[in-house]
Amino acid sequence: MTAEFIPFALPDTGPEEIEAVAKVIRSGWVTTGPRTKEFEAAFAGYLGGGVQALAVNSATAGLHLALESLGIGPGDEVITSTLTFTATAEVVRYLGADPVFVDVDPMTLNMDVAAVRAAITPRTKAIMPVHYAGLACDMTALLALARAAGIRVVEDAAHALPSTSDGVLVGQLDSDVTVFSFYANKTMTTGEGGMVVTRHQELADRMRVMRLHGINRDAFDRFQSKKPAWYYEVVAPGFKYNMTDIAAAMGLVQLGRLNDFLVRRQVLAARYYEALGGLPLVLPAAGGPARQHAWHLYVIRLAAPRMANGLTRDTLIQGLADAGIGTSVHYVPLNRQPYWRDRYGLTPEGFPVADAAYETMVSLPLYTAMTDAQQERIIAALTALLNG
Ligand SMILES: *Cc1c(COP(=O)(O)O)cnc(C)c1O
Repeated sequence: MTAEFIPFALPDTGPEEIEAVAKVIRSGWVTTGPRTKEFEAAFAGYLGGGVQALAVNSATAGLHLALESLGIGPGDEVITSTLTFTATAEVVRYLGADPVFVDVDPMTLNMDVAAVRAAITPRTKAIMPVHYAGLACDMTALLALARAAGIRVVEDAAHALPSTSDGVLVGQLDSDVTVFSFYANKTMTTGEGGMVVTRHQELADRMRVMRLHGINRDAFDRFQSKKPAWYYEVVAPGFKYNMTDIAAAMGLVQLGRLNDFLVRRQVLAARYYEALGGLPLVLPAAGGPARQHAWHLYVIRLAAPRMANGLTRDTLIQGLADAGIGTSVHYVPLNRQPYWRDRYGLTPEGFPVADAAYETMVSLPLYTAMTDAQQERIIAALTALLNG
């Protein structure tokens, strides 16, 4: 008898989400409208600190809007981590600017602050920190560095809900814009979706207009307002990045469950630490009271690319798959991806830390819908492969 498959990730959605979505569909207003406005207000309230929140249809869209609102364009450089999803860097290319990739810190796998400092040139317009796995970058150091150099900061917080840096929630820090993702495998989901957060009124205004075709009135406002519904003005060639009320209704329920989700993720992470501590592995940096880990990912690294028993990252992944366990790798460093490698002439030697981490890393299943019994199966399979 084969054991049931344990997927790498699974959204935690149930009757409440289904009912909220059904209610929107029954209401007759399914695109951006009252639920989206409510979700934005609830999200801004969750973060606190007087931030504005703009719902979008993906974090990728949000990152694009953020850089566009900062006026980034051809000839500009934006510094980011090589150990991230390609979306972080592709939005820089959307605007005709160039990402500059830096290596990561060996413990946290977050962007190395000294490498960021060394990468700054007269063309540098922005830094995009990525809070890898849900552990915040050293934002105090990065914000000080950016401020001194007159550079803007856009946080890719796709993994970092909710995370803290020096005790402050990511989203409430002094960066220009912070972008969260509600993709299916993130710490909360709307299927597809994202949230852009800023304290800067002029950036919020620009992003609000560019989110919807460069139109200065959204459809719901036109529908509700006393002004004629047919009238609107196009002030820029904008994008189609608005969130639907169907997604927002799901987001409202998920946001209400977020703190419970975090507790469950913390329990699962603690169990992994306890069970895997004696194995020849590098376990992830855990954060602490002032640096709360969101536990989007639990990334283990083999102690060596080839273990004494012949085990490698690839055979470990295969062995777990054979035991009915899904895993993933976060990430193939961007310096190894053909487009980025060839366009910028990047080599693994230029990113020794990320590259060495990549050779040994595996992301284990970590999601709130996972049962204790499933986690015990993962631990047992991993232990057997490492000791085999
Ligand atoms: C998921 C992710 C994104 C993109 O999020 P979408 O909502 O899918 O656009 C960007 N950056 C990182 C680091 C991610 O993990």
